[in-house]
Amino acid sequence: NTVTDFYFTDEFEAQSRYKPVTHNAHKGTQGHALIIGGSYGKIGAICLSAKAALKSGCGLATAYLPKCGYTVLQTSFPEAMVLTNGEEHITQISFDFQPKAIGIGMGLGQHQETQKALYDFLKIVSVPLVIDADALNILSYNKEWLKLLPENTILTPHPKELERLMGSWKDDFEKIEMMKSFSKEYKLVLIAKDAYTMIVYNGTVHINSSGNAALATGGSGDVLTGIITGLLAQSYSPVDAAIFGVYLHGLTADIGIRETAKQVFIASDILKYMGKAYM
Ligand code: AMP
Ligand code: MG
Repeated sequence: NTVTDFYFTDEFEAQSRYKPVTHNAHKGTQGHALIIGGSYGKIGAICLSAKAALKSGCGLATAYLPKCGYTVLQTSFPEAMVLTNGEEHITQISFDFQPKAIGIGMGLGQHQETQKALYDFLKIVSVPLVIDADALNILSYNKEWLKLLPENTILTPHPKELERLMGSWKDDFEKIEMMKSFSKEYKLVLIAKDAYTMIVYNGTVHINSSGNAALATGGSGDVLTGIITGLLAQSYSPVDAAIFGVYLHGLTADIGIRETAKQVFIASDILKYMGKAYM
C-alpha cells in the first residue's frame, strides 16, 4: 500500500480550481461564513480569521466568540456580524441562521465547558466544516468524536497538532501513509500545514508550492482557516477550497516578500496581499 497518487499544486493547478465572481452576484449568493473561536487573550485569532473569510470573497461573515471579545471584534472589523456566548470562553454554541460554511477552533481555548460545547455542536452540525487549532486539540483528547465530523470536513493541523491527532511518525514516508489512512478512516480532507503543505484525501496527496518562511508567524494559520471557510461558503468543494485556499495563502507571502522583509511580514499582511494574490 505504498503507491500514492501525488500531485503538485502550481499556479495553473490552482487557477483551474478558481471560481470567478459572477456579474450579478450579491451578498446573499456569495455565501455566509461562520467563524467560531476566541477566548480571553486570544481574540485576535478570531478577528484575523473572520476577516480572512470575508476577504476570500464570501458575502457575509459572522464571528461567534466569548463576550470579552465583542467590542474588539466590532471595532477592528466592522464588516463582520458578531454573536457572543460566555464571558471569557465559549460555553455553548448555538445560532439561529444557516451558515454556508463554518470554521472553528482559532484561539478557542480548551476549557472543560468549551469541550462540552464543541461536542454538542459536532453532534448536530451538517454544513461544510473546517476544524483548526484548539478544536483539533480537543479532538485529539477525545478521538471518538472524530466520528461525528461530517464527511469531507477539513482539518488544518500544524505539525504538532497533527502528531497529537495521529501519533508520531519515524519519517516522511510513514507520515504520508498515516495521513492517508487517517483521512480515509474518518473520510476527511487533511491539510498538513508545513513549509510544503500537503492536502490528503481519499488516497491522494497534493503538495503545495507557494509560500515561504514569512508565514512562520503567529496568526498565519488562523488566516488560512478563514480563507478556506470563506471559499466553502462560496460553494467551492472541500477539496477545491483546500487546494486553492492553501495556494492563495502562500502566494500572499511570495508577493509580500518582494516588498517587505520576511521578518517584518505578519499575519495581517496575508490579508493585505490577498488582493494581489487573487489577481
Ligand atoms: P499555524 O502554525 O497554525 O499558525 O499555521 C502556519 C501557517 O503558515 C501554515 O499555513 C503553514 O503552512 C505556513 N507556514 C509556516 N511556516 C512556513 C514556511 N517556512 N514556508 C511556507 N509556509 C509556512
Ligand atoms: Mg494555528
